[in-house]
Amino acid sequence: MSSSNHIISAKVREQFPILHQEINGKPLVYFDNAATTQKPQVVIDAISGYYSGYNANIHRGIHHLAEKATSAFEQTRKGIQRFLNAAKQEEIIFTYGTTDGINLIAQTYGRAFLNEGDEIIISTMEHHSNIVPWQMLCEEKGCILKVIPINDEGELLMEEYKKLLTNKTKIVSVVYASNALGTVNPVKDIIDAAHEVGAVTIIDAAQATSHIKIDVQQLDTDFLCFSAHKLYGPTGMGALYGKEDLLNKMPPWRGGGEMIKEVSFEKTTYNELPYKFEAGTPNIADVIALQTALDFVNELGLENIASYEQELLEYATEALEAIEGLTIIGKAKEKVSVISFIMDGIHPQDIGVILDQQGIAIRTGHHCTQPLMQRFGIVGTSRASFAVYNTKEEVDKLVAGLQKVKRLLA
Ligand code: PLP
Repeated sequence: MSSSNHIISAKVREQFPILHQEINGKPLVYFDNAATTQKPQVVIDAISGYYSGYNANIHRGIHHLAEKATSAFEQTRKGIQRFLNAAKQEEIIFTYGTTDGINLIAQTYGRAFLNEGDEIIISTMEHHSNIVPWQMLCEEKGCILKVIPINDEGELLMEEYKKLLTNKTKIVSVVYASNALGTVNPVKDIIDAAHEVGAVTIIDAAQATSHIKIDVQQLDTDFLCFSAHKLYGPTGMGALYGKEDLLNKMPPWRGGGEMIKEVSFEKTTYNELPYKFEAGTPNIADVIALQTALDFVNELGLENIASYEQELLEYATEALEAIEGLTIIGKAKEKVSVISFIMDGIHPQDIGVILDQQGIAIRTGHHCTQPLMQRFGIVGTSRASFAVYNTKEEVDKLVAGLQKVKRLLA
């Protein structure tokens, strides 16, 4: 690890209060970042700062607090526009997170524009949130779900993908980076091929935003969804990016306040973008705090974060591979900092419990990717996922913990 990177992690760690505690008498080692990242103090302060300083409902008030809250709320929209390099801020819709964004597209674009026999393509490594909304749509509309296969390394078979594309393909929805394998998919190629048959594309960027610089205009994707809580921001909120012309064409989804222009019992007209898709009082505090999280990431620099995490990933991969009886699931050439593994004769849950006794938090199970686990013929994996505040010393503790698991259970 280079010394400059070491300074990044030491300086960064200080900013995360939750990391400075003991679990079961041991310093916490938090390796469950793919499930959710921890929050820096500035993000926590942004939430309490709103409630203690300017809590007010947005858009409709003319008093000082309402104007201050509205301005902070809309600042985040601009911040996301810059973060994703979207052409317009109207293309950014606030959601509850990635799951909510994908459901919004399925329930609006999907229900309005897909018909019986139309085809939707996803991949073997999708999170349930990019499978189930499409199954629900297929059931309702009589559409067909097709699945891109993967190789044993956990990489998409691009030639097979191209064979699945037909003039019936209406939607291609794939994950940018797999939460269970770490695989980074060649999304630009996927998008370009989908566009050749006239399909619209959706990128699940839940695991990508904290590791990969995203440029939606360069990708030319039609939609992209992410969650704030995987990006050092608050839980239960996120955003959907959509091209303006598509969002304009789509019917609204949830009905209520804010998404209307005018309501009468005879006829209601709908608001313009982005408000058309933002019914009801939103999660104001958390939207505001997402901007603070984006500032945190921007100040560190996504490239610096990614290169530091890649060093941790390489270090950990080498160390884990040296443990006899341990097999890494997901060996793609391009990976984010996620390592899934199994150990001979030991159930993943037992690994998680023994590591927890040593203060090490990892995730075990199917990671909301049951079809992917079926592809590998396993019930689940143990997963360690790294963020910018993790260190090589913590990886050493994981390795020692896994040696202990072997001594106790193998
Ligand atoms: N997609 C991927 C790849 C994920 O890892 C997750 C969360 O783990 C989701 C979608 C769903 O995100 P959320 O629960 O924030 O909606």
